[in-house]
Amino acid sequence: MHIEFCGADRTVTGSCHLLEINGLRVFLDMGMYQGPRQEAERINRWLAPNAATADALILSHGHLDHCGKLPVLVRGGFKSAIHCTPATAEVARIVLGDSAAIQVEDVQYLQRQGTPQAAPEPLYTPKDIPGVLGLMRRIPYGQKTDLGKGVSFTFFDAGHILGSAYVLVEWESKRLLFTGDVGRYDTPILRDPQAIPGAVDYLITESTYGNTQHAPMSEVGPQFLDAVRFCVQRRSRLLVPSFAVGRTQTVLWYIQRFMQDGQIPPIPIFVDSPMGVEISKIHSQFRENYDEQTLAAIGTHDLFGTSRVTFASTTEQSKQINDQGGPCVIIASSPTCEFGRILHHIKQSVDRPDDLIVFVGYIPPNTLGRRLQNGEKRARIFDRWYDVRCQVRTIHGLSAHADGDELMRFLQPALNPRATAWVVHGEVDQAEPFSRRLLGAGVAAASLPEMQSIAEL
Ligand SMILES: [Zn+2]
Repeated sequence: MHIEFCGADRTVTGSCHLLEINGLRVFLDMGMYQGPRQEAERINRWLAPNAATADALILSHGHLDHCGKLPVLVRGGFKSAIHCTPATAEVARIVLGDSAAIQVEDVQYLQRQGTPQAAPEPLYTPKDIPGVLGLMRRIPYGQKTDLGKGVSFTFFDAGHILGSAYVLVEWESKRLLFTGDVGRYDTPILRDPQAIPGAVDYLITESTYGNTQHAPMSEVGPQFLDAVRFCVQRRSRLLVPSFAVGRTQTVLWYIQRFMQDGQIPPIPIFVDSPMGVEISKIHSQFRENYDEQTLAAIGTHDLFGTSRVTFASTTEQSKQINDQGGPCVIIASSPTCEFGRILHHIKQSVDRPDDLIVFVGYIPPNTLGRRLQNGEKRARIFDRWYDVRCQVRTIHGLSAHADGDELMRFLQPALNPRATAWVVHGEVDQAEPFSRRLLGAGVAAASLPEMQSIAEL
C-alpha cells in the first residue's frame, strides 16, 4: 500500500490524496487550491502523474477545496467512477457550475479592466461540468461499497456540510480512515459527526483548527447578533464573505432566527451567488440530513421559507446590490476575497467606517480576505489601492470545522498503538501541534506529509 499526497499538505485547501492498494489506485478528493492567483493557477493546473488512469475517486464532500479540480481531472482523461453521497452529488453539481461561471466572469472582468495577463484563460468552463457529473455514483451513508481487488469503502456522516462524509477504506484486515472535513458538535441544521466504528491502522486527518479552541456554540449566536445589530443601528451594510455551501446556510439560519424572535427588525438579506436558489432546493430535498432540533423547529416548513432573502443569480441583480444602502446583509463568495462577487461589494464598503465585514470561517493566508482579517489598513482590489476604513470582525465559532478538542473527541475511537497518522488540511501552526497531540494519545506515528511525497507501507 502506498499513499501519494497530492494536495492540502501543510496547507488547508486543495484536498487530494492518491491511495494504491493491491494495485488499485484510488483518489481521495480532487480539491481546488485557493490562494494567491499565480500560485493557484500553477497548482490547480497540475495533476499527479497517471492521474487519468486511476481506478476510482472517493469524494468526501462538495466544498470547492475538495471537489473543485474534478473538471481538470476529467479534462485530463479520467473516466472512472466518482463515488459520493447523494447530497454531495447535488452540492458538487452546483458548486462546480458556480466555480466555472465565476472563473469565466472573473476573466471577463479582468479583460475589461485591461489586465488580461492576470488570468489568461479560465481553468474550466461550464461546458466541462456534465462530463464530471456523468461519472458520479451516489452511495448512501453506511453502505459498504466494493472497489475491486479486495478493497471496499464506507461513507459516514461528518457533520460538516450537507452530504459531507468521512471515509473508511478496508482491505484484508486493514482499515484506513480519511476524515475529509469534520464538523462541529451542536451546530444548527446538521447532525453531529457520526461516531467512528472502532480502531484503524492508518489515518489521514484534517487539522484546520487542530491547535485552536473555538468559542462554545452557545456564544456564536450572541456574537453574530451583535454584528447584525451594529449595522441595524448605523443603517450600514454587513458583508459576509462565505463559502456558498454550508456557512451561507448557517448565517441565513441565524438571521432568520433573530428576526423570528424579534431580536432585530426585518432587514433585507442578499445571497449574491448564482447557486443561492438551487442550494435552498437541495437542502429541501435532503431533510433526512437535518438534525432533530432543526426538524422540530421548522416543522413542515422549508428551511429558509420565512426569511426576507433575495437570491441574486444574474450579474445585473448583483450590480443592483452594489448600490443597496443599509441596513442590509450581503452574503457572497468567495471567503478568500480573491475572486467572486464579494470583491465588488468590498470595493463599495471598504472605505465606509460604518460598514462591517464579518468573516465566518477559515481564510487562506496571502489572500485579500486574510489581509483584511489581519487588520491591514490598505487593500488592493482589482489592481487599485484603497484605505480600509470599514469594520472587520471574525466569528471563528461559525466555522464548519471542529477545533482541536472536537477533533480529538471525534478521532478517539480510531486511535490505538498500531495506527499511523498523516496530518493534512491544516497550516503548520495548526497541524504540527495536532500531530503531537495524536502521538500523546498513543498512535505509533504522526507526521505532516509534503506535497507530492509518497508514504510506502
Ligand atoms: Zn469543507
